[in-house]
Amino acid sequence: MVKINNNYLKLPGSYLFSTIAKKVSTYTEENPDKKLIRLGIGDVTQPIAPAIIEALHGAVEEMGNGETFHGYAPDLGYGFLRELIAKEDYGSRDCPISADEIFVSDGAKSDCGNIQEIFDENCKIAVCDPVYPVYVDSNVMAGRTGEYDEKTGKWSNVIYMPCTAENNFIPKLPEEVPDLIYLCVPNNPTGTTLTRDQLKIWVDYANENGAVILYDAAYEAYISQEDVPHSIFEIKGAETCAIEFRSFSKNAGFTGVRLGFTVVPKALVREEVSLHSLWARRHGTKFNGAPYVIQKAGAAVYSTEGKAQLKEQVTYYMRNAEVIYNGLMEAGCQVYGGVNAPYIWLKVPQGMTSWEFFDCLLQEAGVVGTPGSGFGPSGEGYFRLTAFGTYENTVEAIERMKKCLPSLYK
Ligand code: PLP
Repeated sequence: MVKINNNYLKLPGSYLFSTIAKKVSTYTEENPDKKLIRLGIGDVTQPIAPAIIEALHGAVEEMGNGETFHGYAPDLGYGFLRELIAKEDYGSRDCPISADEIFVSDGAKSDCGNIQEIFDENCKIAVCDPVYPVYVDSNVMAGRTGEYDEKTGKWSNVIYMPCTAENNFIPKLPEEVPDLIYLCVPNNPTGTTLTRDQLKIWVDYANENGAVILYDAAYEAYISQEDVPHSIFEIKGAETCAIEFRSFSKNAGFTGVRLGFTVVPKALVREEVSLHSLWARRHGTKFNGAPYVIQKAGAAVYSTEGKAQLKEQVTYYMRNAEVIYNGLMEAGCQVYGGVNAPYIWLKVPQGMTSWEFFDCLLQEAGVVGTPGSGFGPSGEGYFRLTAFGTYENTVEAIERMKKCLPSLYK
């Protein structure tokens, strides 16, 4: 009789967004005439920019012609895209990264979920708390996290690094040294970041202790402040201790198109083994390359028109972030994030849980957000709103919230 991977059964409850979907569907059945505004899931709403659509059309035409047809893509990505990424994302910021250290993929979720495969099953992981749930869940599936405690919401073999208003959302170096350190900067869900100096502390710590930093920079395009690095490789020494994940989802609206990349420097070696070759082996064995058409679209992200159009899109979303941030401040909330990230993180009224606030906002304002507790135990007492809606809906949501929130925060 076949045995299943029992670790999957350890994953608690249903996934955050499916619980939200159920509550929303009950609400819409009970309130068929009310307009619901969704500021919950971090999906984009603006259409793909014209320069990228043009590149997509061109590549589709190529696929219909025997002379220009493309079959399997190279496992690690087409040279034209890897060269562009190396030059535009890294060369322009003086990061010591070359094209052959870039692995093109179908998005950051797969890569940051799969990366743990190249590490030993007994590696100890550390995560910021709260954070994007994929890091912990993928390690649960691999049997690396120990037992789950329903009361605390924690796994026994995971080091949690709380990031709350009390420590300005800056994780403290853990007392017990982890093997793998997941950092998500700008952070989903708090929308907060680390400065160059703050990140340097982590790079030095990882190098001193032989740990590896798994750096998720999916929201890099939203960084607006000068002292916030766009890549961990801006920090001296990161090439010997860090792997970076990037996505085309949030800077270019590729959530439904799928493209991302991971940077594994050749200088990153553990136990005398190059992690670059391990990841190349893994990628080549389990992934058959991102589609040519999509990689051509990815290249258009770096064209002059593409850059200008995408800058406009980011500005559009960040105007929403400002509307949310300012509106919530006026309503008397404590608000964080929203300056270098499309997420706004707010403290829920005293005495309420994140889920109680979710229900209250849904019933009173018809607005859907995300309860902070879904992102980790230290997310309890907080709530996430996204700037990825349309401007009109965002303004309306905030007007509604301004009517019902002030009485809750008294
Ligand atoms: N990393 C973080 C921190 C995210 O929030 C998300 C998506 O919301 C992803 C990765 C997934 O990116 P992709 O669409 O490239 O898979």
